[in-house]
Amino acid sequence: MRLSRYYLPVLKETPAEAQIASHQLMLRAGMIRQESAGIYAWLPLGFRVLKKIEQIVREEQDRAGAVEMLMPTIQSAELWRESGRYEAYGKEMLRIKDRADREMLFGPTNEEMITEIFRAGVRSYKDLPKMLYHIQWKFRDEVRPRFGVMRGREFLMKDTYSFDADRDGARRSYNKMFVAYLRTFRRMGLTSIPMRADTGPIGGDLSHEFIVLAETGESAVFCDRRLLDLPVPGADADFDADLQPVIDRFTSYYAATEEKHDAAEFEAKVSPGERIAARGIEVGHIFYFGEKYSAPMRAMITGPDGKDRPVEMGSYGVGVSRLAGALIEAYHDDAGCKWPVPVAPFHVGLVNLKQGDAATDEACAKAYAALVAGGIEVLYDDTPARPGEKFARMDLIGLPFQLIVGPRGLEAGKVEVKRRADGRRDELAPDAAVDMVKRDVMNALKV
Ligand code: ATP
Ligand code: MG
Repeated sequence: MRLSRYYLPVLKETPAEAQIASHQLMLRAGMIRQESAGIYAWLPLGFRVLKKIEQIVREEQDRAGAVEMLMPTIQSAELWRESGRYEAYGKEMLRIKDRADREMLFGPTNEEMITEIFRAGVRSYKDLPKMLYHIQWKFRDEVRPRFGVMRGREFLMKDTYSFDADRDGARRSYNKMFVAYLRTFRRMGLTSIPMRADTGPIGGDLSHEFIVLAETGESAVFCDRRLLDLPVPGADADFDADLQPVIDRFTSYYAATEEKHDAAEFEAKVSPGERIAARGIEVGHIFYFGEKYSAPMRAMITGPDGKDRPVEMGSYGVGVSRLAGALIEAYHDDAGCKWPVPVAPFHVGLVNLKQGDAATDEACAKAYAALVAGGIEVLYDDTPARPGEKFARMDLIGLPFQLIVGPRGLEAGKVEVKRRADGRRDELAPDAAVDMVKRDVMNALKV
């Protein structure tokens, strides 16, 4: 992609309304634009990050055996009356009337709808287990939308729903999502900590929030430091095997959000040197709630004994759009974003220091073609801006690699590679630079 054709409206000043780094940087780097309180347009650069996050979430859901579908954003109030949640949900629900005066709503979550879909298609325990998911916009009329996409009113969520014949099966589904979540966040470069959590309006009796530690996080959390070093299952994890040992390992250490925190237990279980009392961002939340929806909504299955019973369910959410903010909170410095390769909007920023100089233009064109042919995503700064402005902009948008090409370096047969993560710079021949960047990007993308 040539920057001259791209739409990258970067801001020089930090917008006054943004209180935390991720919100400031998303606005400054031209990733998002607020259209109403808590409602954002995703500009091209931000949209690429959102798609990368979404794709990692999708791949790990698929790996765990969940099946993708797409449910509508607009739902009928009738469905929510069946579960009893239409009144209970309160003001967070955006209620709408259609032209025939029918009560509709913009979905804040999809338990009711998926239960309706399931009951129309499955009757027998023989058809179970099933896990279905979609990645769809939600609307919650939050009292205090803030921190940009971290607490939006309209936000993108991945939500999975599991259906099992009995409690043991439901537990196995829960464990699959538990492991899938550990893997999902790790692939993005985040260390997530599963914590005992409240179930809130979703309901149920087994629940974990996946928390990424960050000073600007909205949740107060308490956990054992050793959780940060536990190994996460690899890409060869067998989701049909018994995953309980993995879950037991993670849940054997103390970790709880404020609502579930027990100070006495914390002090008894965790030595002072290992105690973390910090703030965190909730990037995922998993629930087992059994018959909470299937019983009132009559989603029945026939068991091996020939008797009908409500299907056992769980639901599992990931804050896809919130993750864009959470990632910046984890990866930035004063100059801007520092994207990990798997979620970077482009892998490489190619900086032409003297647009219009024949040798420089040619070397850039050659490097660009070689990178693209190698499957690397390149944003080519082919604008006439001055070098200082180009460098600042590249640092701000935070692509993992910068390939810097100028007439002086070329005379010596050299270009420069700068790594945004640690600032390391290497001067080398153009072909060698391209090879190095290709190799490092590909290594970082290995799952
Ligand atoms: P929170 O406690 O942050 O309000 P929640 O517990 O109400 O979130 P869930 O119903 O568990 O949210 O939704 C699943 C995931 O969706 C959350 O873990 C979070 O990552 C994301 N999410 C929830 N609300 C928002 C929001 N207003 N803006 C962006 N992401 C959100
Ligand atoms: Mg939650």
